[in-house]
Amino acid sequence: MAQNASNTETMTPREQSTEFMDALNSLLELIEELKPNDGQYLQACNDLKTLNDKKVVINQKIIQIVERVRNTRVVAEHTARLTRKEHRKQMKRTDTEKLRHGAVRCVRCDRVVFNLKEHRTTYVCHSTGLHKRLAVKVGKHEINRYINLINSINSWAEKTRRYKFGNFTMLK
Ligand SMILES: [Zn+2]
Repeated sequence: MAQNASNTETMTPREQSTEFMDALNSLLELIEELKPNDGQYLQACNDLKTLNDKKVVINQKIIQIVERVRNTRVVAEHTARLTRKEHRKQMKRTDTEKLRHGAVRCVRCDRVVFNLKEHRTTYVCHSTGLHKRLAVKVGKHEINRYINLINSINSWAEKTRRYKFGNFTMLK
């Protein structure tokens, strides 16, 4: 995290002041983005006061603040990402809705998709299709044994570069 800060001793006063301004801007950004509670806001202000009062320890303090801001922003971004994911899940359309909007059902794996050509090249389509055909041939209670066996053969083939046997498409 602090790779930029490791050479602060060799920094010119100009570089140090640039770093100070960066840290300050990060703090202000943080305050804007995160809408901190009073305690966090006070902490940020205290940090700035420390910077101002104890100029001797300024570099170390800058490093600490920059790190704290980075860490907090990482957490904030991660939280935002999770929220977006949750939102997307809620937006997921049902098969009926998709079909109404021009999607088609894949005969191989039964999924409803918009781009059939592209979908037919995916692993999930190939493997589901394979499982379906296997279930017809060997019966539902036997299928897991066969799938495990096929997976072992696939990974053996890939490890030993026998790509012909590592490819699901050969089992079409
Ligand atoms: Zn499919």
